[in-house]
Amino acid sequence: MRRERIPLYNVLSSTPFLSFKNLTLQLIIHERRFGIIVDSPRTARRRLRRPKEKEWTLVMLSGGMDSVAALVWMLENTEDFLHVHHVHLQNRENRATAEQQAIEQILPYLREHYRDFKYTESSWDMNANHTPYDLFVYMFIASMVAQRYRGRHKLRRVVTGSIQMRRNIDLRRKRAWDIFQAGCGWLQSTKGVEWHKPIGHMTKEDVYEYLPEKLRDLTWSCRKPIYTSGEAKPCGKCISCMALKRVRGELTEAQIKAYRRWSE
Ligand SMILES: [Zn+2]
Repeated sequence: MRRERIPLYNVLSSTPFLSFKNLTLQLIIHERRFGIIVDSPRTARRRLRRPKEKEWTLVMLSGGMDSVAALVWMLENTEDFLHVHHVHLQNRENRATAEQQAIEQILPYLREHYRDFKYTESSWDMNANHTPYDLFVYMFIASMVAQRYRGRHKLRRVVTGSIQMRRNIDLRRKRAWDIFQAGCGWLQSTKGVEWHKPIGHMTKEDVYEYLPEKLRDLTWSCRKPIYTSGEAKPCGKCISCMALKRVRGELTEAQIKAYRRWSE
């Protein structure tokens, strides 16, 4: 028998004739055909809300405060289908392990307090070499992940934890986006993907205030962690550690003024 898709509004407008423990049997009459559908009202409603094409948002999550805040924003303020991706970034800074440990605690917290999402990981190893700008690596990998979205599953935007910086990094960001687009190449399915920066207006101070304290404590900021018997401790000296100290009010005005390397 040829199966036919019956528009959902017909299903919903038909009369339920038997209900048992949230399951509803519905009689459908549609263009001289009829059938019976067993459905729960919840799944029927969910199906109605979901568009035919699934549009996805890819969120790049490092495990630091900024990217976690961007993800929280998306979880709280949108109904997007979220695909969260974490990159094990192996470089001279050796922070991949510390970030991984953070991620393992952040994910269950987010799923418990907000909602579920798709999650994947990949690795980028430049251990013995120089340290390329993080965002370049993230955007390149984002472009590789983006290629799985075609057909019914469309990628609509890429989200990063980009915040308001203390110095101008517009050119770097432009280059990062160029890398994403070059990585996607001529793929038609990735045309029209937008780079969304939901917390682009926030300073480091704002991000600190925005995150719930418990979640904030799970994030990892230090770029050069020190490991003692497998446990990571922040170095207290790198740019990220300094920014965190500033935000927490642990630096005097003089110390803030004397530090020349502020970027965030
Ligand atoms: Zn540090």
